[in-house]
Amino acid sequence: TDALTGLANRRSMAERLTRELDAAVSQNHPFCFALLDIDHFKRVNDTYSHDAGDEALCRVAEAMRQTLGQAFEGQWRGADLCARWGGEEFALIFPNSTLQQATEICDTIRLAIMAIDCADFAEGLKLSASMGVCGRGSFNHHEKLVTQADVYLYQAKTGGRNRVVAGE
Ligand code: GH3
Ligand code: MG
Ligand code: MG
Repeated sequence: TDALTGLANRRSMAERLTRELDAAVSQNHPFCFALLDIDHFKRVNDTYSHDAGDEALCRVAEAMRQTLGQAFEGQWRGADLCARWGGEEFALIFPNSTLQQATEICDTIRLAIMAIDCADFAEGLKLSASMGVCGRGSFNHHEKLVTQADVYLYQAKTGGRNRVVAGE
């Protein structure tokens, strides 16, 4: 568990990803993986404080957890599907979801992050995040899926941030 946000940590997510991807491949189910990176997060620390940055990370984690819980109600708890990947980056898995379904959920998360009210800890702060979401497509190895999601995340950053880039 990640101590700050209470989400799964990277190691736990990496193990889960390996398992779920193997299951999806052997059962011929769709599966998607996404990376989320908060935009201009360094500015949050610089403009407000490191503590405010920490609080922002917790709020983003909560927005992800809630949105995922709603999207997968009755199947998975939101907390089971996302993790702190490191720093201001988070990872998400979408078991048994098509790329279109996963992309829609990612966009709902993006909007939920934009809607976070930071007034009680960082007056005037507006958060946004960029995401790369990758369908398993022909990938049957988790490392390739992560690498490709990172390529899409980079495209979301260079494309102007606060957006989701998706692909197989
Ligand atoms: P970009 O939109 O390109 O992602 O810009 P960025 O500023 O978010 O990216 P950059 O990688 O330059 O900065 C990430 C910052 O995240 C720098 C680091 O201090 C901060 N950070 C990483 N982990 C934590 C943490 O646990 N708490 C706080 N408060 N800040 C953190
Ligand atoms: Mg980053
Ligand atoms: Mg960032």
